[in-house]
Amino acid sequence: MAFGLFRKSAKKEEPQGGPKYFDLKVKEIIKETKDAITIIFNQPEGEIISYKSGQFLTLIVPFEGKEIRRAYSLCSSPFLDEDPAVTVKRVEKGLMSNWLPDNLKEGDSVKVLAPTGHFTTEFNKDRKRHIIMFAGGSGITPMMSIIKSTLSQEPESIVSLIYCNRDDESIIFKEKLENCKPPMKGVYM
Ligand SMILES: Cc1cc2nc3c(=O)[nH]c(=O)nc-3n(C[C@H](O)[C@H](O)[C@H](O)COP(=O)(O)OP(=O)(O)OC[C@H]3O[C@@H](n4cnc5c(N)ncnc54)[C@H](O)[C@@H]3O)c2cc1C
Repeated sequence: MAFGLFRKSAKKEEPQGGPKYFDLKVKEIIKETKDAITIIFNQPEGEIISYKSGQFLTLIVPFEGKEIRRAYSLCSSPFLDEDPAVTVKRVEKGLMSNWLPDNLKEGDSVKVLAPTGHFTTEFNKDRKRHIIMFAGGSGITPMMSIIKSTLSQEPESIVSLIYCNRDDESIIFKEKLENCKPPMKGVYM
């Protein structure tokens, strides 16, 4: 077990009264690579979305008279980024991963399920650890959040990332990762 990242909580996460939904307004869409975009959402005006680095949102989109739901990891850090963001990479013939970059515009609203997921860790400024991460393609998104949170919250910790991609152009967050030196500034602030 690596640093408790995969440890399951004994408590069930789902709130009493069923799953919690938010309507999130798209603040900005950033083209990361030729087939990946980052969608930055405005924090809702009422109750804000709180999440842990490594968790994901489930996006719910109307599609041909039905609703489709897909999970997208938050690439933003709750410590550094004011607004939650996800990064979506196109999958050949995939429904949602193509619908989002082809249709979504700034100002649109997207229904999401509250953040969830156990691929996370707690941060503590007195901790000194070496986190080693392996990622491929869009698998970088939860890692990005954990990297940003670790470097900003644990000055004594270091992170090593082994990140596989098809070619140079398809590396999501290439520049941001290259500039990843502690103390990190919020990438999307
Ligand atoms: C916890 C979690 C976090 C994730 N985080 C991210 C993230 O940060 N970024 C990201 O980009 N993705 C992420 N994903 C993946 C994401 O949820 C979607 O699975 C992905 O975007 C593809 O969805 P889609 O609707 O585009 O494709 P789908 O429509 O689900 O199709 C996927 C593939 O299956 C094929 N297919 C579909 N139906 C059939 C069929 N009947 N017969 C044969 N083939 C079929 C399609 O052609 C396509 O190639 C995450 C997944 C999980 C579980």
